[in-house]
Amino acid sequence: MPKAIVIGAGIAGIASAIRLTLKGYQVDVFEANSKPGGKLGELRMKGFRFDTGPSLFTMPQYVDELFTLAGKNPKDYFDYIKLKEVCRYFYEDGLRLNAKSDIDLFAQEIEAKTNSTAAEVNRFLKKSETIYEVTHQVFLERTLHKLKSYLHWDTLKSVFRFLQIDAFRAQSKANKKFFKDERIAQLFNRYATYNGSDPYQAPATLNVIPHFEYHFGAFLPKNGMYGIVTALVKLAEELGVKFHYNQKVEEILYTEGAQPKILGAKIYDKTYKAEVVVSNLDIWFTYKNLLKNIDPPKKLLNQERSSSALIFYWGMDGNYSDLGLHNIFFAKDYQAEFNAIWKDKIISDDPTVYINISAKHLRSESPNDSENWFVMINVPSNNGQNWDLLIQEARTQIIKKISRILNRNIEKDIICEQILDPRSIESKTGSYQGSLYGNSSNSQFAAFLRHPNFSSKIKGLYFCGGSVHPGGGIPLALLSAKIIDDNMPS
Ligand code: FAD
Repeated sequence: MPKAIVIGAGIAGIASAIRLTLKGYQVDVFEANSKPGGKLGELRMKGFRFDTGPSLFTMPQYVDELFTLAGKNPKDYFDYIKLKEVCRYFYEDGLRLNAKSDIDLFAQEIEAKTNSTAAEVNRFLKKSETIYEVTHQVFLERTLHKLKSYLHWDTLKSVFRFLQIDAFRAQSKANKKFFKDERIAQLFNRYATYNGSDPYQAPATLNVIPHFEYHFGAFLPKNGMYGIVTALVKLAEELGVKFHYNQKVEEILYTEGAQPKILGAKIYDKTYKAEVVVSNLDIWFTYKNLLKNIDPPKKLLNQERSSSALIFYWGMDGNYSDLGLHNIFFAKDYQAEFNAIWKDKIISDDPTVYINISAKHLRSESPNDSENWFVMINVPSNNGQNWDLLIQEARTQIIKKISRILNRNIEKDIICEQILDPRSIESKTGSYQGSLYGNSSNSQFAAFLRHPNFSSKIKGLYFCGGSVHPGGGIPLALLSAKIIDDNMPS
């Protein structure tokens, strides 16, 4: 039986292991941490449970597909609910919007409460759908790095429709045209942050993202986000994948000579042989630490990183009926917030605050009469800023902002706390500079600039995960594993 090694048990590493087993490989996964999941982690504290990373689950069909491929019923492993309410939005001027997943209801609410109309919302989402139609097969579901991808008729059709993807103006410029009310433009500008980018620089192509949420839907796994990891690891183990925890790979081994070929991987001076190696690490660390003798793709590795996050996990004494599962408290001056992050590389003094409370649906996640708050703001990636000071200042601003808008002193309700910042994101998940999504998508051609899913220098070496093609976030990380599968010799 041919052997394969997967380095890293992030979501794409686990998906790759499942796919390789189904291709007939004997698969070993080596993970530096004591648990699988990488950025998709969990934390338990004083009776509260928190998902530490992703909180928004879209495109669950990419998870289901792995069970179906293995001949199993996904529902026997993993279940989720479709959300009726996508997000609650709070503005400093008192405006509150409850974005229903039924877009007609949401559009009517926007028309009733703001200067924008339902027709504006519908026009915008139609455009979002068009961008999806043009991009999904070409940019998301196939490799951009093999000629055969360009020989499909649907790829050629997409090339002819390239101008429709709105790549030549910034997202914020496009949205200013779509919406009379700048608060609604702000609401849709926020989608650039879903892949760690800046709406004032990133192309309007990112307006494709609302299509995922409003057309396919937003979901919540019934066992929390970490339930995705436990279900996939269970499937992988049943198929024969072996997971080795606390095993940090130090080197990828390959033959020397004109046509290098994979030999395996090295961990603590021990050599493990394999014909195939899939690296799920941040591509920056794959080159820096595991492929020291290979010329790195310098231009790609020197690109601007996506943003990072500062997260407070708060156990809250009390219930907040104004809040739902996903809540956004917008900054007054959105552009100033992004200037602080991208130009000054600091935290804005009025950051947009995201609060996720999984206990709103999953009661067992917090003790009675209490809530598990995941409170996150976007921050720059780690360039050696004085984080301790920035975190202290941000904490004060966040508490003031939420208390002001909810008209309730929230600080007295915080009964326990843990913090994740760009430094700890890097040390806990191996993400260079603590970026959440690899390189940023602030340039027009970012989609073409992500690292391919295979090595052109070493036969048998593949790359998956949020830092390579097609991009960051759970759905795209899962697609990276699928693209490897589709492009491997069987
Ligand atoms: P990673 O999660 O990056 O895991 C890589 C693994 O490799 C880690 O387990 C690490 O320990 C291991 N590793 C590193 N070095 C070695 C080594 N030398 N040897 C062995 N193992 C090694 N996405 C969404 O879809 N929705 C969201 O709402 C969302 N919100 C997010 C919020 C936060 C705070 C964060 C951090 C991320 C968020 N994301 C979200 C992004 C999403 O989590 C990632 O894109 C996705 O989980 C990345 O998975 P991955 O396969 O690239 O692996």
